[in-house]
Formats: sequence, C-alpha cells, structure tokens
Amino acid sequence: MQKKPLISASERLSKLPPYLFAELDRQKKAARKRGLDLIDFGIGDPDMPTPDAIVKAGQDAVADPANHRYPNGAGCDSFREASRRWMKSQFGVECETAAVIGSKEGIAHIPMVFCNRGDLVLVPNPGYPVYRAAAILADAIPVDLPLLSENGFLPDLESIPPAVLREAKVMFLNYPNNPTGAVLTLEQMTGMVEFARKNNLLIVSDNSYSHIRFDGEQPMSFLQVPGAEDVVLEFHSLSKTFNMTGWRVGFVAGGAHLVNTFMGAKENIDSGAFTAVQKAAEFAMEMPHGLFNERMEVYRERRDILVEGLKNLNWDVFDSPGTFYVWVKLPRGADSMVFSRKMINHAGIVITPGSGFGTWGEGYIRFALTIPSARIHQAVGRLEQMELHKGRLLKWLKKTGD
Ligand SMILES: *Cc1c(COP(=O)(O)O)cnc(C)c1O
Repeated sequence: MQKKPLISASERLSKLPPYLFAELDRQKKAARKRGLDLIDFGIGDPDMPTPDAIVKAGQDAVADPANHRYPNGAGCDSFREASRRWMKSQFGVECETAAVIGSKEGIAHIPMVFCNRGDLVLVPNPGYPVYRAAAILADAIPVDLPLLSENGFLPDLESIPPAVLREAKVMFLNYPNNPTGAVLTLEQMTGMVEFARKNNLLIVSDNSYSHIRFDGEQPMSFLQVPGAEDVVLEFHSLSKTFNMTGWRVGFVAGGAHLVNTFMGAKENIDSGAFTAVQKAAEFAMEMPHGLFNERMEVYRERRDILVEGLKNLNWDVFDSPGTFYVWVKLPRGADSMVFSRKMINHAGIVITPGSGFGTWGEGYIRFALTIPSARIHQAVGRLEQMELHKGRLLKWLKKTGD
C-alpha cells in the first residue's frame, strides 16, 4: 500500500491541469533509444543563438562589480529608460515600464495582484497554459474564452454571459497568438479596450511575439489605443524578439498607476532581474534592427516549406500571419494526442497536440518553426513518402498501432 505522505500539497495545486506532455516526453525518449531520427517541431524556443553583440554586452556587464549587488526591483534606471524608448520607437507609445524576470514570471503574478478569491479570469482556450495556472494559484477562477476558427481565433466578447462579466476582473489576450498564429488589427484592439473600459476589466496583453509576423504590418501594441492606459498591462519579452529565451528578461508596460501597483506587489516576491542581463537587454533594444528582417526571412522560408508541403498533402493549414507556429486542423474525429504519438513512432516527427493548449485546441496540432529548413524538407518528404494526404489520415490512424 502507498504510504500517505506526512506533508501534502495545497488544494490549489491539485486544481492545476495535469501536465499533458509527460507521456509524449516518454514516447520521444523511447523512440530516440530505438535509434529513430526525430525531427522535433515541438519546442517553441528559437534555435538561432542570441546575436554576438548582445552576448558581448552581457559579458561586459557580468564583469562589472557594480552589477553584482542586489538589482533594483523594478529594473535599473537605464533599462527602464531603454524600454520606454523602445515602446516609443516601435509602437509610438508613451508609457511607464518596469523589468520582469521573463514575461512568464510577470504573467504568473498578475492574478495574485489584481484578483480576490473567487474573481473570474478570462483565459484564451487554446492558449499558453500559464494564464490558467496563474488564476488557479491565486484562488481565482479561470473561465474559457474559446478561440474558434470561424472567428479567426479571436475571442467573441459579445458572447460572454453578463453574469460572468460582472465577476470577471482580468482578461488575458495574446496576439500574435500562440498556438494559432492569429493577429489583431488596431481596430479590433480598439473594440477590446472599449469593452474592457465598459466592464472594469483589466486586459493583460501578452505581446511576446510582437515582432514575429509575416503580413508586412508594423508591430502593434494595445497601448496604441486611446484610453488603454487605464485598463491594459502589456508584457514584452526579449525572449522571442532577440532570441534570448535563456536570459530571462522582459518588461511590463502600461499606465503608471497599473505598473506601479503591479511592481509594488512584486517587491515582496523577488528582488528583480540580474542587472547584467538588463544591460544586455538594453543593448539589444538600442541596436540597429536589421536583425529582425534577417531572422524573419529565415522563419518565412521555413514556414513556406512547411505550409506548402502540408497543403500539397491537402492538410488543413491555418495561414497564420504571425508567430513561429503553424496551426493545423486534423480531420474530424482524430484525437490530437493519439495522432502526435503515432507521428513520433511512425514518422519520427514531433509535433504538439492541440489539446495541450486547452479543450478547444483538441482536433488541432502545432508545428514550431524552430528547426532548420533542411529538416523541415525532410519531414515533408517523410509525410509524402507515407502518402499521408488528408483523405488518408483517419484510415492511417485506425490501422496503425502505437
Ligand atoms: C514564449 C512565451 C512566453 C514566455 O516569455 P518569457 O519572456 O520567456 O517568459 C510568454 N507567452 C507566450 C505566449 C509564449 O509563447
């Protein structure tokens, strides 16, 4: 019999959704052990390194003893100034900013700061799992905002019941969107800000993919909308924009009242991001930005190879204008987890099942474009060789063992 542990976890913790990818991780390990060459579209982490000049700026800052002491919680003055200049140069926005230890950290602390027990938090489904977890860990209650293909993967705010709206305090939004790749127009953002003002709702905009879009549009910010400063906090991240996921640095932007409220609470939790890392981030934001164009060309080439390859097989690809993800609809009746498992074991291709992003992600899979073009060609070649065009997928699923 299993011995009952002397110390148990909080009830809160038991409400977190189970980690769905554990089984896939096991399958991946086992497949590698069998010698299978896995092409891994699973990981949303840029494969290209941090640009040399940023690394050098970071190295110099690490060597400076002035940066070895406790950082300023809200970020050093020069970082805050650089991030405010960035908001101005990239989006034409004047606002307050403060440093966070990666936007994930900032997002995870939002409900704790703004919600009382039992307040409702609107979370996109499918969506980045941290929004839901953050609400649960603060004893708030996550409520789904379904992102449906018929709405272009935008939330239908008018369909939220009035009773829910009355109790809702925070609405997480993430455009360009992970996992679907959808983006917003300024007009759509304006409508959402008006909605938030009318309903006393804090919009928390996760803008970590601001600079990864293929539609030729300028990067956008919710803070461009007049009146947004009263109801929007926006997270910006160096992670995806500058290939700096490991450095753990980003910032929160918005009106002074909201930013200061947030940082005032955070002072009780951590002591800020390593100053040397902030210095590297500062340098990144002040660099000439030819970098974006070069890197976007790499993502665009990868995206075109995959999207074209899948379309030739008649797969249902969402032609996403942003992020480095490709979101694909499976034929009706296919289970995304089962599909993903069989893709590992029979095609050596790793993808992420849509159900990992929430119930409304079921029936979809996500490819991350964080591997070289040659590998993407190879993956498409494997699918072609297996003659896995859309019309045959269900049959293949049925007749193929695990
Ligand atoms: C990658 C990612 C983040 C994480 O950003 P960090 O700044 O590295 O913490 C946040 N939101 C979404 C939707 C992401 O995909």
